[in-house]
Amino acid sequence: MVYDAIIVGAGPAGGMAARQISKEGYKVLVIDRKKVVGVPVQCGEGMNHFALEENDLKPNDSWIKKRMKGVKCIVPNGKFFHINEPGYSIDRAKFDQWIMNHSLDNGTELLLNTRVNGIEKRGDKWMAKTKKADYEGKILIGADGFASNVARWLGIMKKREFIKAIEYKFRYEDFDYPEEERLCVYYGERFNKGYGWVFPRGDEWNVGVGGFENNKEKLKNFLKFVGVDGEKRTKVIAGVAPHHYVLSNLTKNGVMIVGDAAGMTNPTFGGGIHTALSSGRISGEVACKALEEENLGLIEEYNTRMKKEPYLKPIVHKCAEYFKKWTDEDFNFLGNMMEGIDQSELTIFKGFIKMLKYPKYFARSRELLLVKKAMRINQKYGW
Ligand SMILES: Cc1cc2nc3c(=O)[nH]c(=O)nc-3n(C[C@H](O)[C@H](O)[C@H](O)COP(=O)(O)OP(=O)(O)OC[C@H]3O[C@@H](n4cnc5c(N)ncnc54)[C@H](O)[C@@H]3O)c2cc1C
Repeated sequence: MVYDAIIVGAGPAGGMAARQISKEGYKVLVIDRKKVVGVPVQCGEGMNHFALEENDLKPNDSWIKKRMKGVKCIVPNGKFFHINEPGYSIDRAKFDQWIMNHSLDNGTELLLNTRVNGIEKRGDKWMAKTKKADYEGKILIGADGFASNVARWLGIMKKREFIKAIEYKFRYEDFDYPEEERLCVYYGERFNKGYGWVFPRGDEWNVGVGGFENNKEKLKNFLKFVGVDGEKRTKVIAGVAPHHYVLSNLTKNGVMIVGDAAGMTNPTFGGGIHTALSSGRISGEVACKALEEENLGLIEEYNTRMKKEPYLKPIVHKCAEYFKKWTDEDFNFLGNMMEGIDQSELTIFKGFIKMLKYPKYFARSRELLLVKKAMRINQKYGW
């Protein structure tokens, strides 16, 4: 049996690619090492509505835990600004299964509890090798998450920098927190180049930190800071997310790399569901075109199309690099400039007037303008 497309990984990137390709009647095989799609969950489970809209998906009560008004960014002096972009706290396992079910309805085959341990080009086909058997496909999609084995086997991975995260869940009644309608993200030196968060989820809370080192210690201090008793946690979740990956190309010889496997997680907010859905969809669209025209050379178009996506613009990483160097004073300056407003409300003119109070930051105007531009992208694509 030769599949039109074989997809390694059944996360949102792989699920979305499968959905797109199977919709056009092509034969798809998805392989995942997990026993159940989306389980265990390693995620803060926050996602904006635009992630659905952009990918032609509709909100569904089966996975919505709570509707959110947006994100609240909190700086060390306690001041904050808003990112008014509606979204959701979701049940991530149910969401991943919901995405995958669409393509199963279209005839996609799903092979669970099966690890792909190598790939090989035989003639003009790709083989996905597993312990049980080798599977043959015309197109291969690497949607295998942060470990990104497919890209490494292809030799196109140049650099991988990770962020580690640890989060606790608490029952609603065990944490008295003042914000229930926004995902709250904390910045400052206490996170040592990372960040912290409190995500309201209706009947529960998710409190966590992401960073490069000593996360357990940072979480302990953060729990004390926000005022919740770590002993009352109902669940501990730890995971790894890409922070900065560099690939020489997103395609090679009929293979496309999507989602976390290509390091597309937003480095400032840590969100990667949106970019996984988007890159998965685009890879699916490109695959369909190549299959329809019987020209696998067209797979290269994935690379060209992805370069146009705002979330892969270099300023997104530039902004994260600035944040890693910022002191508490810098974050407080940002909080003072945008206190209580939506980030989009700070026009260049208003910013100039406010900055008169902080003249030393005029010398960093370029950096601040870049951060402002990047935050607009993060608003839409960072979660
Ligand atoms: C602690 C934490 C919190 C996060 N919070 C958020 C958040 O709130 N919002 C947000 O948008 N993003 C968040 N993220 C990031 C988000 O979870 C990822 O960006 C997203 O899962 C990427 O989707 P994906 O489909 O690319 O990869 P994944 O969801 O990781 O899916 C990859 C799949 O490939 C499978 N796989 C891997 N290797 C193989 C193999 N060799 N053979 C077979 N199968 C294989 C895996 O089992 C997995 O199912 C968080 C990440 C972490 C770690």
